[in-house]
Amino acid sequence: MAELIDGKVVSQSVRDEVAELASKLKQDTGIVPGLAAVLVGDDAASEIYVRNKRKACEKVGIYSEEHKLPAETTEEQLLGLVNKLNEDTKIHGILVQLPLPGHIDETKILRTVSPLKDVDGFHPYNVGLLVEGNPRFVSCTPGGIIKMLDFYNIDIKGKDVVVVGRSNIVGKPVSMLLLHRHGTVTICHSRTKDLKEVTGRADILVAAIGRANFITADMVKDGAVVIDVGINRKDDGKLTGDVDFEAVSEKASFITPVPGGVGPMTIAMLLYNTYLSAKSTAESNK
Ligand code: NDP
Repeated sequence: MAELIDGKVVSQSVRDEVAELASKLKQDTGIVPGLAAVLVGDDAASEIYVRNKRKACEKVGIYSEEHKLPAETTEEQLLGLVNKLNEDTKIHGILVQLPLPGHIDETKILRTVSPLKDVDGFHPYNVGLLVEGNPRFVSCTPGGIIKMLDFYNIDIKGKDVVVVGRSNIVGKPVSMLLLHRHGTVTICHSRTKDLKEVTGRADILVAAIGRANFITADMVKDGAVVIDVGINRKDDGKLTGDVDFEAVSEKASFITPVPGGVGPMTIAMLLYNTYLSAKSTAESNK
């Protein structure tokens, strides 16, 4: 039976660390880390997410602002707000909640966020630094996955690592981080042939697909570490991951649950990146 990788415990340890670091930064430099969240339209899930971020900021001593804009907001108006936040010295992190309404060019907006305030790590400049192996801001979900593995002393070096999913938000950056930690990484996607054969070789398997219970026990090697990134809503409204948790738990050595696994790590890492940004502002003011 697999040991549970508890995202609540690991994320709390990150939050405690951020609270301590932010308080020291304030004491030493007078700088309070500040995060601005921008939400366009009224997506219910995004609103809950943004509200949770605000509460999380309050708890660790991070100043936070929410900018809720109507769905009809033009691209120009949104660009104007992002540029204003880029210049705002109270703000060290800018988060533009995705998805944006269809009439707004998401790529253009994300590229307008200053790379120095891009705490999500989505700007091409920060993606480049990540690929180079010198990340400034590691995207929050991938960074959170590495923190979880480290917390449970799970060694990545030399392991066969399989990531299912190649998105810019999860699959690609987490693959890069695992590669930098010396995993032998294979990235799978919807065109991968014989997926079961590939996943069956994984010592560490990361599922970032967005399909409920897609990874079944016959796709998993005995003793594998299984990280489930997926968040899917079932017909009864409850959340479930991409992994068939019950059956895969019987085979894996470690497994993350959904909810309570990778999810809580994402906000914790966002707080951490906001602190990092404020700290580098303090250093550049010296
Ligand atoms: P995307 O939809 O952007 O990417 C999904 C990936 O899965 C794609 O690369 C796709 O392949 C691949 N895929 C789809 N079907 C198959 C298949 N049949 N076989 C193999 N690969 C397949 O999703 P995201 O990466 O943004 O998110 C993935 C999941 O993680 C979602 O459930 C999302 O809600 C969740 N998530 C959770 C977060 C958290 O904080 N815990 C944060 C971000 C996301 P292809 O490229 O070929 O289409």
